Amino acid sequence: MTPIPDGAEVKHGATVRLDKVSFSYGEASFLFDVEFAASRITAIMGPSGSGKSTLLNLVAGFEAPGSGRVLIVELNVSAAPPSARPVSMVFQENNLFAHLSVERNVGLGRSPSLGLSGADREAIAGALQRVGLAGKENRLPRELSGGERQRVALARVLVRDRPVLLLDEPFASLGPALRDDMLDLLASVHAERKMTVLFVTHQPEDARRIGQDMVFLDNGTVAAAGPAADFFDGSGPEAFRRYIGSGP
Ligand code: ADP
Ligand code: MG
Repeated sequence: MTPIPDGAEVKHGATVRLDKVSFSYGEASFLFDVEFAASRITAIMGPSGSGKSTLLNLVAGFEAPGSGRVLIVELNVSAAPPSARPVSMVFQENNLFAHLSVERNVGLGRSPSLGLSGADREAIAGALQRVGLAGKENRLPRELSGGERQRVALARVLVRDRPVLLLDEPFASLGPALRDDMLDLLASVHAERKMTVLFVTHQPEDARRIGQDMVFLDNGTVAAAGPAADFFDGSGPEAFRRYIGSGP
């Protein structure tokens, strides 16, 4: 059963809210009560194991809350499968199907079947151009560098064009120069499309560079939240300063 009514369409400009969402894996328990403002980039930081991936997985629908609700705009998506949610996600690695070409991998953002229409092909070509991979449509993932593979994952998200974008340390395996390129690309796509972005990163520099808001997790819950600038001017919450001071 899905609570999303037929024909309900979530447009860009969607607020994401976790309303007293509880969840647990055996001993590890989480409680998230937090709102992500529409059309903004929120950086999510916190120590390893604090629940960053769990929070994204709850929004994406890969995990179901024990109690509470996940709301996108005011739609209750708590019981909707990932494919029915107005979200797309990029993971740290293993984003691509190894046996499918770049074009097919990006095409999965448009349609779950492998058949591509002329319009699909045009959209895919546009997205590959945008991420700097024009001409590499027929490569397999293993014939690309790590940075190029993450660009393919971003191209797939571009053709999917969902109002909510979930990024789970997408650039963590890239060197600083490539990471900067990807951040610039993300910022320029966001300026055009204004998706609501939940950006998990353990790099303070990345959060400072493109994060507009910040959510800091500690021990399975939200320890602090607010405008990102407030976290970096020295007046931020003490737990955050301690975390930053201790290195990633
Ligand atoms: P983060 O992304 O902030 O590093 P996670 O959300 O991945 O943290 O995980 C938080 C905690 O939840 C982990 O320390 C681990 O104990 C537990 N956990 C995460 N995923 C699983 C899982 N699939 N099965 C059991 N426990 C898990
Ligand atoms: Mg994680």
